Amino acid sequence: MSEFSYFQTRGWIEVIVGSMFSGKTEELIRRTRRAEFAKLKVQVFKPVIDNRYKEKEVTSHNLNTVDAIPLNHIEEIWDHLSPKTRVVGIDEGQFFDPSIVQVVQDLADRGLRVIIAGLDTDWKGRPFEPMPTLMAIAENVTKQHAVCMVCGAPASRTQKTSGGDSQIEVGAAESYEARCREHFVAKVDQRTV
Ligand code: ADP
Ligand code: MG
Repeated sequence: MSEFSYFQTRGWIEVIVGSMFSGKTEELIRRTRRAEFAKLKVQVFKPVIDNRYKEKEVTSHNLNTVDAIPLNHIEEIWDHLSPKTRVVGIDEGQFFDPSIVQVVQDLADRGLRVIIAGLDTDWKGRPFEPMPTLMAIAENVTKQHAVCMVCGAPASRTQKTSGGDSQIEVGAAESYEARCREHFVAKVDQRTV
């Protein structure tokens, strides 16, 4: 008998996407807190690569935090998963490799509620795998918007404002800002206004 076989609830995958600063981490923290109010055991995971704030916490840009286990590889989740856990949160999903897709399917198939937050597009406006695939297999997808730093409209894009050309370069307000479709450009662009 699997250690998870006593779960009665059906599994479920939720994906929270949007640009940087759109409140994905805030929303992940809000949902996991509500699950804790319901006395459900929650575990939150994040990629080691995201070292912007504390190593063992997930932190939003407004400095809300929740404890999180850093993983080098998504498969390490099995070493940390408690048999009592009913809700799994994963932040910065775009930094995990495509094997995250099978891992979250397996978690949901075992009856867990899985909530994954991540960037839907990169700073060139391209779909940022594995998030688009996760959006396709999820039961529920939420697209969030930030505020465009040029005009104040709802922002769907992450504008790179400094740094190099690689798809992955971890940073916050010093190298990225939120922009709407009109003001986004698919290259490093410092604002002059
Ligand atoms: P994400 O995880 O999507 O990057 P966070 O949840 O970490 O976003 O942070 C959201 C918070 O970022 C907002 O509540 C706000 O305090 C702050 N913020 C900074 N810049 C912006 C912006 N351009 N639009 C909206 N929120 C912003
Ligand atoms: Mg975040």
